Amino acid sequence: MSATVSLQGIGASPGVAVGHAFVLDSKRVRTPKVKLKADEVDSEALRFKTAVDLSDRQLQDLKERLFSESDRSQGQDHALILEAHRMMLHDPMFLVEVSRLIKDEAINAEWAVRRVAKRLKHQFDNLEDEYFRERRADVDFVADRVVRNLLGQAVDEEVQVPTDAVIIAHEISPADAAMLVKTGRIAAFVTDLGGQTSHTAIVARAREVPAVVGAVRASEHVRTGDVVAVDGTRGLVLVNPTEQQLSIFRETMRRHLAVEATALRTAELRAVTLDGVEVHLNGNIEFPEEIPSLLAHGAEGIGLYRTEFLFLNRPLPPTEEEHYQAYREVLLAMGNRPVTIRTLDLGGDKVPGKKIEKETNPAMGLRAIRYCLQHREMFRVQLRALLRASAHGNMRIMFPLISGLSELREARSELEHCRSELGRSGHPVGKRMPIGIMVETPSAALIADRLAQEADFFSVGTNDLIQYSLAIDRQNRDVAYLYKPLHLAVLRSLRSIVTAAKAAKIPVAMCGEMGGDPAFTLVLLALGFDELSMTAGQISSVKGIVRRVNRTDAVELLDKAMEFSTAEEIERFVRSEMELRFTNLQD
Ligand code: PEP
Ligand code: MG
Repeated sequence: MSATVSLQGIGASPGVAVGHAFVLDSKRVRTPKVKLKADEVDSEALRFKTAVDLSDRQLQDLKERLFSESDRSQGQDHALILEAHRMMLHDPMFLVEVSRLIKDEAINAEWAVRRVAKRLKHQFDNLEDEYFRERRADVDFVADRVVRNLLGQAVDEEVQVPTDAVIIAHEISPADAAMLVKTGRIAAFVTDLGGQTSHTAIVARAREVPAVVGAVRASEHVRTGDVVAVDGTRGLVLVNPTEQQLSIFRETMRRHLAVEATALRTAELRAVTLDGVEVHLNGNIEFPEEIPSLLAHGAEGIGLYRTEFLFLNRPLPPTEEEHYQAYREVLLAMGNRPVTIRTLDLGGDKVPGKKIEKETNPAMGLRAIRYCLQHREMFRVQLRALLRASAHGNMRIMFPLISGLSELREARSELEHCRSELGRSGHPVGKRMPIGIMVETPSAALIADRLAQEADFFSVGTNDLIQYSLAIDRQNRDVAYLYKPLHLAVLRSLRSIVTAAKAAKIPVAMCGEMGGDPAFTLVLLALGFDELSMTAGQISSVKGIVRRVNRTDAVELLDKAMEFSTAEEIERFVRSEMELRFTNLQD
């Protein structure tokens, strides 16, 4: 038997799988480099144009094939990604630059394509946000396609993948990922490259297939047929594991499947405590593709739709029509359930296609509602699309990073302005919808009583609220040990936010990570949150806790916890009380 190899990557889609490897040969094509004679230049430029036209047709074909064969919501998302690739292909920066290089430097088209792709990718290098940095890969996918076409190599071949295979690849293009999931059951994905927001990760999460990305050189260590164990939660990949390792993996897999089975079994149950207090459990999404999984896990609605993800893969911001189609699709998929759409939470460093001065402190810079209020036209495009789409379902709009009442008033008045404009131009607009805010700055928490007079609901974004309250950069590993949701400052802040909401009789939700962690459910129940929003996989564990306790008991626990002074003491106390009540949080 071959030696065991253990690889550590990034856990990109939770779950455990053991299966036989199927290695996809997705290495970059070799690019020939040729100097041309003067009289060869014109025909080379023509050769490039032909390859671009062919690439365009292929993408169009693929889009139509996927769109007609898959069900609507899934097909459409892939179609959008492929459309973004077509836009890249026609980007003047790409077309003009490649033709210029061929002419001015007398080099072959393949070489010119690679050089321009390298330059385009460079633009993404300095972006702080991992998501947008990841888009470099898309430039490569487009360049690869053109180069393969120039070389006359096959593209978009359908590979026959055995059922329950673990797909191993250097990286997977959106086109390949879409085709693979279409072919049937895949046990897991492992790629050498990629991060949490690479396409493989997104597709895998949406289909609930375990995935590890960034598992450096996995495609070199693994051969087709090898036994591979994948832990997509911890980011671990074992190639040819020992019997003992396999049995540990199988046990984890068994537990994961048991949790999943419970989740699906309890999907229809409401989250009501033994003494009759109900908490609504919603889902957080970044892409419409995640909706089927949310619904299967019993989400009652969407508590947070992060719309900045509409900027995926594109050199220019989405048009009003594209925004509209996305919102309409989500609303229709959710039927009458509430859908909370957050307006763009982009920072100055996160807007693709724009040259922006680097901020010293981007987390405290021009982001979210601040950015939108300074870029009115972009904001209006989104607001108009939201108003038009609102006719198709149960929409709520939420503004991110509100730090004072003026911002809420200004954002609201912009919305009203768009509403009357649409009305005047005869566009149908839905009824008035609830307009809420994310409470995620200490200033908003401190004036929550005033904000509650003018907001229709609150949703607490603990990821940011904790970062700003404790002055802990959420991206900085060195201070991660100080990031404590149970810090007394956080608990006091949460308590006053909920009190303000209750006094004004508006609903209060939580959509930060804290809301989906079962370790905090008793505390949040005691604080009095009406709604908690989380990822699909977390719903059943949180529900399991809510259904097994009395709220009065949780309130007593929180009162005692808040008598302690340090975060460590509070954590210890809450954990021990949780252990007394639940032996295993996952069951
Ligand atoms: C939050 O800050 O808790 C939140 C949900 O927003 P994001 O994580 O998108 O900043
Ligand atoms: Mg936030």
